[in-house]
Amino acid sequence: MITDVFCKIIKGELKSEAVYKDEDFWVVKDINPQAPVHLLIIPVKHFLNIEDFKSEGELLGKALLLADKVAHEQGLEKGYRLIINEGEHGGKLVSHFHIHILGGKRLGPKIVR
Ligand code: AMP
Repeated sequence: MITDVFCKIIKGELKSEAVYKDEDFWVVKDINPQAPVHLLIIPVKHFLNIEDFKSEGELLGKALLLADKVAHEQGLEKGYRLIINEGEHGGKLVSHFHIHILGGKRLGPKIVR
């Protein structure tokens, strides 16, 4: 079932461990980390998916630049991986746009399972 726990996090109804916050984005630690560092870039405003950013495309660019900034702040100088899951086949579980930042070790080359 697809849920939107991220709106609850932004509203303060659900606890999270944030490493960064501004007026547009929060960056929180994933509750079920798949790598030594696993963060989620979450827009404060609810966007469902990339298509939802059509009239606010500059925010998507800001999210990518923020991902790189936070990755470096979190010690991922040796590299990191960004993932956006979309839809049923993409394995999306939370119906609020987000970007995964994964790193902290050499990640395997396989991104398809
Ligand atoms: P996705 O499949 O891209 O929708 O991934 C959603 C991610 O959100 C998963 O990696 C979950 O572990 C993570 N997640 C779900 N609930 C929470 C929460 N309350 N706090 C932090 N991360 C969460």
